[in-house]
Amino acid sequence: MDFDEFREFGHASIEFIINYLSGIRERDVLPSVAPYTVINQLPKEIPEKPEHWREVLKDLESIILPGLTHWQSPYFNAFYPSSSSAGSIVGELLIAGIGVLGFSWICSPACTELEVVVMDWLAKFLKLPEHFQHASDGPGGGVIQGSASEAVLVAVLAAREQAVISCKETHPELSESEVRGKLIAYSSDQSNSCIEKAGVLAAMPIKLLPADDDLILRGNTLRKAIEDDVAAGLIPVICIATLGTTGTCAYDDIDSLADVCQALNVWLHVDAAYAGGGFALEECTELRRGLDRVDSLNFNLHKFMLVNFDCSAMWLKDANKVVDSFNVDRIYLKHKHEGQSQIPDFRHWQIPLGRRFRALKVWITFRTLGAEGLRSHVRKHIALAQQFEAFVRNDSRFEMVAPQALGLVCFRPRGDNEHTAQLLQRLMERKKIYMVKAEHAGRQFLRFAVCGMDAKPSDIEFAWTEIETQLTALLAEKSLAARKPSNVSELTQHFQMHLASDSGTHEKSQ
Ligand code: PLP
Repeated sequence: MDFDEFREFGHASIEFIINYLSGIRERDVLPSVAPYTVINQLPKEIPEKPEHWREVLKDLESIILPGLTHWQSPYFNAFYPSSSSAGSIVGELLIAGIGVLGFSWICSPACTELEVVVMDWLAKFLKLPEHFQHASDGPGGGVIQGSASEAVLVAVLAAREQAVISCKETHPELSESEVRGKLIAYSSDQSNSCIEKAGVLAAMPIKLLPADDDLILRGNTLRKAIEDDVAAGLIPVICIATLGTTGTCAYDDIDSLADVCQALNVWLHVDAAYAGGGFALEECTELRRGLDRVDSLNFNLHKFMLVNFDCSAMWLKDANKVVDSFNVDRIYLKHKHEGQSQIPDFRHWQIPLGRRFRALKVWITFRTLGAEGLRSHVRKHIALAQQFEAFVRNDSRFEMVAPQALGLVCFRPRGDNEHTAQLLQRLMERKKIYMVKAEHAGRQFLRFAVCGMDAKPSDIEFAWTEIETQLTALLAEKSLAARKPSNVSELTQHFQMHLASDSGTHEKSQ
């Protein structure tokens, strides 16, 4: 492809993206494809001859798009948002176009230095303690990882290595494998699956401690668990707290956890993958309580800062603890500015060697939206969640399950779990909105997460109308099914309903 053709392809692709995003509300948020639909439409091998890009875009439209779940749709209300914006999309294109890797400063100095700058900008914007900035006097700083999972794993691995070093000093009678066999970590039973996975990958058990009834993990629970484990000869390494749990966006009590961790020399990491966006707001100051006492934290820019996936910020109070744990050198990786303050070699801060120029899309996003735009995005999601909560509270057939937090509302139709599952099933089959269930203390509930690039009050109204009319239909079906038909037209309706539900079952079993 020559540059002229590249230009045409690029322009057409931008048009494609704009058409897709501007028309996203017209699509069902969930696809209607059966398994293998995409596989069966595509050739089994790479085409031998180059194809024209127009053919590729045509197939993207006709084969791939129908098989997509539309994450940027405001009717996508599952999980948490994976946000995007015009600036970050163009940033992603420029990253690919420029195509540099920045694992060491010398590989591409601007790549590292821009990351230092945007991570400090972000630390200030989120009002994080000063020691997390590269520009501070201490050994702290921020780095962009691909995902919260990677950030947590880095913290877990670094804490593990630090614990092994210090334990070998305090217990010289123990061999290294004996020390490693005694290591133990902690989190709450409300934490994201990536925490447990980090434990598996780090070969270190992570105890999922029971959160209190309000779904918050507090220091007293941690202290008791640590004391029991120490008495049993184990070595506590790290506690991973969550600000904004995936289930209900609950906030662990960082202050009381920090009391325990500081007293017992345990690393404290905070996973604020979603809720970190709230740090920026004056009205959410409470959220930041205790952060000055944590060793590391992560926040997904792709969740709340309108930077497209993947982009996960991580800050360390003492980056040397990570660098020293992961430092594996080769002569070809060396350069003469190594170790100079504020020019980190980020390869030591992460799992892979190679690294993307993610700082570029962050920089472009921040500049094109401004701090003002970022704050108003978070505020808008909170306001839309409050709008949704008002709908829930206004309809006595529903109940709230947890307090509305940032852009998340957890609610359920009154009744048993089966009722919640049936409502969700209907909604999923209609594909107009997409939510997922969660469960706590044996009660299933629905999570409504405000998502989308530009969700509006009318989108929330659309979602609510869909939910409540489907509940009305479900209740009507149930009451009809429970009642004995008393006249000819009711009898006909009764049998029609049975036939419809039988054919539904039949279709699914095929
Ligand atoms: N932590 C929390 C609280 C989350 O909600 C999620 C995902 O939604 C994650 C971690 C995992 O994020 P990632 O996909 O970036 O690894």
